Amino acid sequence: MLPFLLTRHSVVRKRSFARHLDLFLTTSYLRSRDGSIGHISQDEYCHFQPAAEELAAYLRSHQARSLSEPFAHGQTVQSLDTAIRQWRANNPSLEAELRAIHDQHHCITAEEFKQLVSPQKGELACEYCELTESDFRQLIQQGLVRTKRLSTRGSSFEFDCRDPEQGYTKNNVALCCYWCNNAKTDEFSAGEFKPVALALAAVWRQRLSTQSPGPQ
Ligand SMILES: [Zn+2]
Repeated sequence: MLPFLLTRHSVVRKRSFARHLDLFLTTSYLRSRDGSIGHISQDEYCHFQPAAEELAAYLRSHQARSLSEPFAHGQTVQSLDTAIRQWRANNPSLEAELRAIHDQHHCITAEEFKQLVSPQKGELACEYCELTESDFRQLIQQGLVRTKRLSTRGSSFEFDCRDPEQGYTKNNVALCCYWCNNAKTDEFSAGEFKPVALALAAVWRQRLSTQSPGPQ
């Protein structure tokens, strides 16, 4: 596999593990009697499936505006944060074992990832706005893109979780453009975002046809 693909995959896998472990430890905290994270077995992690209300609680903890917001067990988001930090400080070798399990069972594999970036219609396209690699190349070369950061980046494409709740699992990772990825965030599902992406596509096509990046 191309070195560039392996690097991109390892970045996705790393991000995926950080999120997944955090979700798992948050769930362990919620399931405990007193808000402490106790012993965790590898088997438990391997078969981990959060319930809908646990996922909702996890997202709530991430959206909390302050650590003093109430969370669970009559305690605050701060106490969840402390429990997770303590667990990680006390279990570095177990964390490494969980990472290996994650890479095997809870994340898109290198081979599946390769399929994602193997263009089926001749070239890569954003799954949401449907613009292609050559559309973006044209926009950038003709100075029709305002995002300055992009001129220093190798690719206009990124990887997004279609359904943010499911993480970077097989069939949930989408190839999408930098702008759709930024606009969609973790707030919207792929289905909810589609009409927004098609509206963005109309703007891109307008720029291509008028050769202007629009009014300043
Ligand atoms: Zn897009």
